[in-house]
Amino acid sequence: MKWSNYFIPTQKEAPKEAETISHKLMIRAGLIDKLSAGVYTYLPLGLKVLRKVENIVREEMNNSGAVELLMPSLQPASLWKETKRFDKMGKDMITFIDRHNREMIFGPTHEEVITDIVRKYVKSWKQLPIILYQIQTKFRDEIRPRFGVIRAREFLMKDAYSFDINEKGLDNSYNLMKETYKKIFSRCGLKFKIQEADSGVIGGKFSEEFVAEGECNELEVGHIFKLGTEYSLSMKAYFVDKYGKESPIYMGCYGIGVSRIIAAIIEGNYDKNGIIWPLSVSPFEVVIIPINMSDYEIKNISEKIYKDLIENGIDVILDDREESAGFKFKDADLCGFPYQVVIGKKIKEKKVEIKARSTNKTEDINFEKVTDYIKDILREEKK
Ligand code: ATP
Ligand code: MG
Repeated sequence: MKWSNYFIPTQKEAPKEAETISHKLMIRAGLIDKLSAGVYTYLPLGLKVLRKVENIVREEMNNSGAVELLMPSLQPASLWKETKRFDKMGKDMITFIDRHNREMIFGPTHEEVITDIVRKYVKSWKQLPIILYQIQTKFRDEIRPRFGVIRAREFLMKDAYSFDINEKGLDNSYNLMKETYKKIFSRCGLKFKIQEADSGVIGGKFSEEFVAEGECNELEVGHIFKLGTEYSLSMKAYFVDKYGKESPIYMGCYGIGVSRIIAAIIEGNYDKNGIIWPLSVSPFEVVIIPINMSDYEIKNISEKIYKDLIENGIDVILDDREESAGFKFKDADLCGFPYQVVIGKKIKEKKVEIKARSTNKTEDINFEKVTDYIKDILREEKK
């Protein structure tokens, strides 16, 4: 990607309402734009991070044996009346009447919809256990949307639901998800702890939260629940066991705030100059900074290194803008790309400078060896 063709509207100042460091930096680095209270656009750089987090979540969920599907945001209120959650959710749930006078909602979560699917199609013990999940947009009309994507009204969640024949099966599914969550959060570069939690309106008997440990606040990034038979009883999701007896399915549910993770990562990875992305979720792995685009040699070598890195599968952005070196350095630090390849005067000695964003350490490398050098450090880091 060439910066001049891309869209990264970086800002010198954060809006006054931004209280947390992640909110300030997400605006300043051009990751998000606020449309209205708690409603954000993911600008290209923000979307790239979101997709990387999403892919980590998807890979680990698939590895666990969970199966992806996609449910609609639009749900009939009637389903929520079956479980008696229509009243419990209160004003957090956005409801409206469609043109045929049907009461509808925008889904704040999907226990009802998934249970409806399972009761239609799962009839026998032979079809169990199964874990179904989606990565999908949720709507919650939070009283006080704040801290940017941390408490938004529209946000991206990974929600998974397990279905088992008995309590022992549920325990297995629950533990499998718990282990999967540990892998997901570790790969995202998050320090976290697990603590017993209140199950709130989701219900069930037991739940635990995954809490990211940032500098200034503790953030719930994931929540896993043993629901038992609460939903299957109220919605009549039964299966026939080996002996021909009908029993309610045992359920669990498991949420991850995919968009909130981004803020949690930033809370734990920044300095006075900006974001310091862990490699696994960084929008680009490397930024190439030619200090002067009107110098023919600098421009040429920058483009050559850029091409070479792309050919080697490295996620790289070339800052080819006609701007001062200082301006480009500031933006590169703010946006937090893990490695900066600076192409400047040392090119006379065939050398370019490579800076690691996290340590600020620089090294001079022969310009022909940049790709190998970068490949080595990335390989080392990905281990
Ligand atoms: P919180 O206590 O933070 O309001 P919750 O307990 O209501 O969250 P869950 O129903 O457990 O949330 O949802 C699963 C995950 O979705 C949470 O762990 C969190 O990471 C994320 N999440 C919940 N509400 C929001 C929101 N308003 N904005 C962004 N992410 C959210
Ligand atoms: Mg929760």
